[in-house]
Amino acid sequence: MSDSTVQQGALKYEGKAKKMFETQNPDQLLVVYKDDATAFNGEKKGAITGKGKVNAEISARLFQYLESKGVPTHFIEQTAPGHMLVKAVTIVPVEVIIRNVATGSMHKRLGVTEGRVFQQPVLEFCYKNDALGDPLVNDDHVIVMEWATPEQLLTIRQLAKKVNDLLKPLMLKMGLTLVDFKMEFGLYQGQVILADEISPDTCRLWDVTTGRKLDKDRFRQDLGEVEEAYQEVMGRMRKVLAE
Ligand code: 5GP
Repeated sequence: MSDSTVQQGALKYEGKAKKMFETQNPDQLLVVYKDDATAFNGEKKGAITGKGKVNAEISARLFQYLESKGVPTHFIEQTAPGHMLVKAVTIVPVEVIIRNVATGSMHKRLGVTEGRVFQQPVLEFCYKNDALGDPLVNDDHVIVMEWATPEQLLTIRQLAKKVNDLLKPLMLKMGLTLVDFKMEFGLYQGQVILADEISPDTCRLWDVTTGRKLDKDRFRQDLGEVEEAYQEVMGRMRKVLAE
């Protein structure tokens, strides 16, 4: 299928990095990835040339890989560069973060030495709410706020760990350490599935040999060569996940 067979309908939602359009099928949405970049809950704004297309391709390849390994995702197909047809889910308003190495907000919050490699992945939940600064929450919050049932929460935990178990070795083949990443899950026809995106916007990826950051931290920390870093990840992924 191509964009010519998917009818782009009304704008349903516009986020910081993506627009979502209705299609002729009420169960499917068209996601258009944007070049806009934001950080620190929207305080820092900018654009990364070509990011939309790169992130759409990286996410598409990762979703296809994960599906092939038994992880249900919202991905249907990439209909054009930067465009992705997905299942229309009800998003669980929780960011699911997995950390393999200490850095970022965990380093700031707990004072743990940056770069410390954990003996097991750390899973965190944050409430998706920019006005509140995406606060850290625990399983009890998720349940009493009725963001997910206990059963759905268990599935989210299991799927998040499985995604990490699959992506860590894949990234290693690409010469990258999967330091940490953020996932979002949605409900589709009663099932919990992986949604949103997995890309250098939502992951920390460090070159195994040099430690060079190849992710959104280049934008957040004004490190320069942001586009190049995203392209580098896509190039390595194309080689490892060759069609
Ligand atoms: P931290 O909590 O250290 O800032 O982020 C942990 C990981 O989750 C990083 O890989 C980061 O990119 C991702 N992450 C956390 N919150 C967000 C968010 O609101 N947007 C995006 N794009 N990534 C996030």
